[in-house]
Amino acid sequence: MDLFEYQGKQYFARYDIAVSPGDVAYTVDEAVAAAEMAGYPVVVKAQVQVGGRGKAGGIKLADNADEVRLHAGSILGMDIKGHTVKRVWVEHASDIAKEYYASYSLDRAAKKHLLMLSAAGGIEIETVALENPEAIVLLHIDPVDGISLDAARAAAVDAHIDAQAVDGVAVMLVALYRCFTEGDCDLAEINPLILRPDGGVHALDAKVSLDNNAAFRHPEWDEFRATEELDEREQLARSHDLQYIGLDGTVGIIANGAGLAMSTLDVVNQVGGSAANFLDIGGGANADMMAAALEVINFDQNVASILINIFGGITRGEEVANGIVEALGRVALRAPIVIRLDGTNAEQGREILANAGIPASKLTSKPTMLEAARAAVAIANATAIADEHGTQNRSN
Ligand code: GDP
Ligand code: MN
Repeated sequence: MDLFEYQGKQYFARYDIAVSPGDVAYTVDEAVAAAEMAGYPVVVKAQVQVGGRGKAGGIKLADNADEVRLHAGSILGMDIKGHTVKRVWVEHASDIAKEYYASYSLDRAAKKHLLMLSAAGGIEIETVALENPEAIVLLHIDPVDGISLDAARAAAVDAHIDAQAVDGVAVMLVALYRCFTEGDCDLAEINPLILRPDGGVHALDAKVSLDNNAAFRHPEWDEFRATEELDEREQLARSHDLQYIGLDGTVGIIANGAGLAMSTLDVVNQVGGSAANFLDIGGGANADMMAAALEVINFDQNVASILINIFGGITRGEEVANGIVEALGRVALRAPIVIRLDGTNAEQGREILANAGIPASKLTSKPTMLEAARAAVAIANATAIADEHGTQNRSN
């Protein structure tokens, strides 16, 4: 789950990471109240989960209530890269001497945590990585050992952090590591981490992504969940407790088990298709879940064919088949289904499907994953070609 900047800063504050005093505001009046509390000058910042807000006009300095009114009024409701601004964060403005970059993430290949630190902050780290890669210090951290103050200080020196900021940055890096690990983050990024003219160091921005698998030990995350911005497909999937991730391809995918779902995505790619989603209906999926999964997939306008890949263990073939029959009765599926049903009670399941009177144009069964993927991709790609011709005809 991705947090907004203001939530990230609230999260940072719990781990003693210094941030500017401020408050979130949903209206112009609330923004003025927040500014009075924070003390002028303030900065009014659009809260959207996308970078480059400054360049888009979503970050403005204000010296008095009139200026807060003006800026909050223009920023609230603004569209930034397809995200509508529903709230602003108003904080006491900082004087900036230098802008640095710091983040922790997980390096899966190395099986370690990764600190990225740079004296070239304030701009997107991807840009620094492209244009000036030697300006980024990468430090792998063994999760068993963590990072010591000395190691943090050495990293700061390596990264050419200004001498007067090294101690402050080192303390910050240790605190941010605690936030990253104890706080169960997938990503904890500060950009910019600033050095003030008075020599102090603090976080001017916050990008935090929480690891949903750790949600069970963080009841306090519920308040973040309340403002989470999911796309409609993801909301629908969540309401059915389905493990769903929206993608931009044309083959809708349903599989049981995350591993099988990922392999299915790979095979679809291999045979020239693209997946519209990842969807794992889980180990003990029943008819209800299958019906819900089909509803979610059907909601996605890009889906041109649906590939159902079930290898039944605990999941039983006849339950899967019943779910499909039920779903077909409940929703008018726009795309045809190709199914590969194997494992527990697969034969029984195939029989149910064969006897349900579903026209062949709506459902085909294939014996292997590869054949099923080929058939689903062929349908999706044929639909894409037909659409292209349709568009050309319309424009003529
Ligand atoms: P992003 O562009 O969406 O990542 O938003 P940031 O929060 O990182 O802010 C972008 C830039 O705005 C920063 O790099 C700063 O240069 C500037 N900025 C943000 N807050 C302040 C502030 O309190 N004082 C000053 N002087 N500049 C600020
Ligand atoms: Mn930033």
